[in-house]
Amino acid sequence: MALVIGGGIAGPTAAMALRKAGIDATIYEAHGPGAEHVGAGFNIATNGLDALAAIGALDATKGLGIPATRISMYNRKARLLGTVATGLPRPGAPDTTTFKRGELFAALAGEAASRGITTEYHRRLVRIEQSDRSVTAHFADGTRASGDVLIGADGVHSATRAYVDPDAPSPRYTGLVSFGGFGRNPGLPPEPGVWKMMFGRRAFFGWFVPDTTQVWWFISVPMDKPLSREEILAEGTGAWVPRLTGLFAGDDVPVEPIVRAQADELIVVGAEYDLPNMRTWARGRVLIIGDAAHRASTSSGQGASMAMEDAVTLGQCLRDIDDPGRAFATLQHLRRPRTDKIVALGAKTASSKAAGPLAAAMRDAFMKLGFRFFYKPESSAWLLRNHIDWDERITPAKA
Ligand SMILES: Cc1cc2nc3c(=O)[nH]c(=O)nc-3n(C[C@H](O)[C@H](O)[C@H](O)COP(=O)(O)OP(=O)(O)OC[C@H]3O[C@@H](n4cnc5c(N)ncnc54)[C@H](O)[C@@H]3O)c2cc1C
Repeated sequence: MALVIGGGIAGPTAAMALRKAGIDATIYEAHGPGAEHVGAGFNIATNGLDALAAIGALDATKGLGIPATRISMYNRKARLLGTVATGLPRPGAPDTTTFKRGELFAALAGEAASRGITTEYHRRLVRIEQSDRSVTAHFADGTRASGDVLIGADGVHSATRAYVDPDAPSPRYTGLVSFGGFGRNPGLPPEPGVWKMMFGRRAFFGWFVPDTTQVWWFISVPMDKPLSREEILAEGTGAWVPRLTGLFAGDDVPVEPIVRAQADELIVVGAEYDLPNMRTWARGRVLIIGDAAHRASTSSGQGASMAMEDAVTLGQCLRDIDDPGRAFATLQHLRRPRTDKIVALGAKTASSKAAGPLAAAMRDAFMKLGFRFFYKPESSAWLLRNHIDWDERITPAKA
């Protein structure tokens, strides 16, 4: 029996992968059902969709999300700097898709439930104990549960991580606080498949106009202090609408009509964090995966896809390697080089969003050159065309 802590993305995906490997799993989520319905739009790239397909869970996402195959970058004068492909689908597989975070979470939770996996809500992990034979999770409400292994899929502020490595570095504030929304299209021409993104003078704006009815968007604002969702919501989102639109005064971008068209439904994502490399992801029978182990800035566009890849590879490792310690060491060995690269990539992108005027001018010039002469979609194949073959046997990593 596996105790899976966290019912976000990594949690239900891991529970389904474990079930496919013949291991029972129960999910313990700190919030109530529906609390996961938070967040703006985010991409699941071709590699994340491939991981879901490996455990037969891709169908659960059918009818949700919209293909988002390219990102076009603009400077603040609305000059196109270049366009990149967001996915490299294998033949017959879907391309990168942009989802409403809440809808995707609900779909994964529903799929896990339909496979007989139980999620216990309002179970906040506060303490872990383990022996040679089992591990026990203690929850804030005084209850506890025991199993053979404990998988910490409890996000960037993970309680499991503090147990795995009490000296683990704290998550780093990336310098950005983000907002978003799904609104009515105020008359913008549709551009299906393209997220447009603009480096404004004071903030970063992304918008997606798939058809004549809707527009999805986000704003990342450089701020010295990491304002949390709770702090922003306490002020009231109404106060934030003029502040956000005002940040783009003088920039050639349609922020004002987009944000005003849905002022009442402003989504607060809050301060963004990443997590520098962890020395270890495991301690005995306890493992961390997803954001708990390697949070990349949302600017990487890969947080959820990496969580899915971890979760599916974990199922393979525990299927093929009896000893949990060796299985976890093998997972870390297989996954770590990849996740390290993504965290570094995300940090670079986040800092380019928060650049001052001189750095911004250099960034725009280099980016334009880069897009024209150096960028080739195939250079991202290591990331976007990753394929997990569920039936491939996993060889234990050398101790
Ligand atoms: C509120 C929120 C909004 C987000 N919005 C966006 C967005 O708009 N765009 C984007 O690209 N990315 C967003 N992200 C990040 C993205 O969702 C993650 O990168 C991705 O989902 C990684 O999945 P994960 O399962 O590792 O972590 P998470 O999705 O963070 O899931 C962790 C889960 O563990 C639960 N949990 C935490 N502590 C405990 C505990 N002690 N005991 C039990 N359960 C616990 C949490 O409630 C949560 O459900 C957001 C994350 C959060 C938390």
